[in-house]
Amino acid sequence: MAEQTSLERVDVVVIGGGQAGLAIGYHLARRGLRFVILEEHARIGDSWRNRWDSLRLFTPARYDALPGLRFPAPPHSFPTKDQMADYLEQYAATFELPVRTGVRVDRLRRAEDDDGYVVIAGDARWLAAQVVVAAGAYHEPRVPGFARELKPEIRQLHSSQYRNPAQLRPGAVLVVGACNSGAEIAFDVARTHCTWLSGRDTGHIPIDTESRAYRVFGVLMSFLGSRVLTVDTPLGRKARPKFRAGGGPLVRVKPAHLQAAGVERVFARTIGVRDGLPLLDDGQVLDVANVIWCVGFQHAARWIEVPIEQEDGWPQHTRGAVPSAPGLYFIGLPFLYSINSSLVVGVGRDAAYLAERIASRATVARPPWRPGSDTDPVRLRVTQPRTKDLLRG
Ligand SMILES: Cc1cc2nc3c(=O)[nH]c(=O)nc-3n(C[C@H](O)[C@H](O)[C@H](O)COP(=O)(O)OP(=O)(O)OC[C@H]3O[C@@H](n4cnc5c(N)ncnc54)[C@H](O)[C@@H]3O)c2cc1C
Repeated sequence: MAEQTSLERVDVVVIGGGQAGLAIGYHLARRGLRFVILEEHARIGDSWRNRWDSLRLFTPARYDALPGLRFPAPPHSFPTKDQMADYLEQYAATFELPVRTGVRVDRLRRAEDDDGYVVIAGDARWLAAQVVVAAGAYHEPRVPGFARELKPEIRQLHSSQYRNPAQLRPGAVLVVGACNSGAEIAFDVARTHCTWLSGRDTGHIPIDTESRAYRVFGVLMSFLGSRVLTVDTPLGRKARPKFRAGGGPLVRVKPAHLQAAGVERVFARTIGVRDGLPLLDDGQVLDVANVIWCVGFQHAARWIEVPIEQEDGWPQHTRGAVPSAPGLYFIGLPFLYSINSSLVVGVGRDAAYLAERIASRATVARPPWRPGSDTDPVRLRVTQPRTKDLLRG
């Protein structure tokens, strides 16, 4: 029997319906483009929901909003990861963004006539002149090869799989990697398990996140991110490779918190395995029952079949646009344009810029969007008081 294949033509396909995909969707809709957002998870916001239970954002609510919709929480409070997930779901609903959930893109390739792209998800296909990859930078776990040599009885998790201490075996835990994820997870695990945290000291921000000083720090970082630390400035270009390599200072859980929680902090790195147990570079071998790898992620979108040059392990692009593949864009990557590009606070600006580029390349002729007009593609449901309260401006 012949295979049933559905084919849809749109102006733009957005792959990924996290904050980056939704932000670009908002701006594409305002420009009257026909597009779909394909999201592999069952629910919008699941990439946040699936993170560890105790996670709260380190950015306060005033910096956690996407374009056009205020985050529904006091501006200086820190949302939980589930509140963030629900906000994203509400965002898509408010602007009626065309998100298709449960659709995992398996292949992205150039169209046969070399005019545009074909996006394939199972039996479904989309043909589009332009494609935005908004698939996230934190999906493909990085784990060292020697992890395979650890005793099979040792329970191993990557930070992206960790939810809470109930997943762990009785006995000691080694958390490998002492940046923010490692520190927060070690702090969480230390409630129930004897915990070691291994990794170099990446420094910490010497300000309590609950203090007034942190509010001032937030304003400063927001200014630096929008004006100073961008690819347009020498300072930004200098900072970019280091930032893209990961490993920034601790923000919420600091050395004093770890010490108070009883975490055994070792500055030696975990470099291998001896007799089935983790070996540190100071020669110590730790007899642990669990290892949690908090050593980051790698960029590996194997389903992208369009050849793209790499730079520092990331796709080469100019402010998101891939020079070797006209009409193909990335959004949400670390330091795409500024130090804030991979954060909620920075993705809106990148989305507006890319949407403008996409619209200028598109051949569609549509009536321009006017607030309140019948052709308004992102009709704001301002008549509903609950939503109205949340709308900015
Ligand atoms: C632990 C942690 C804490 C963080 N805390 C903060 C914070 O406090 N404040 C802040 O501003 N930022 C924070 N960030 C950074 C950033 O805001 C988040 O990582 C955010 O989730 C990135 O959004 P995104 O849309 O770029 O990617 P994601 O949220 O990862 O969304 C990408 C989406 O693409 C989908 N997708 C991927 N591949 C495919 C495919 N082939 N087909 C279809 N769909 C696909 C995924 O299902 C996912 O939903 C944090 C990151 C981490 C890892």
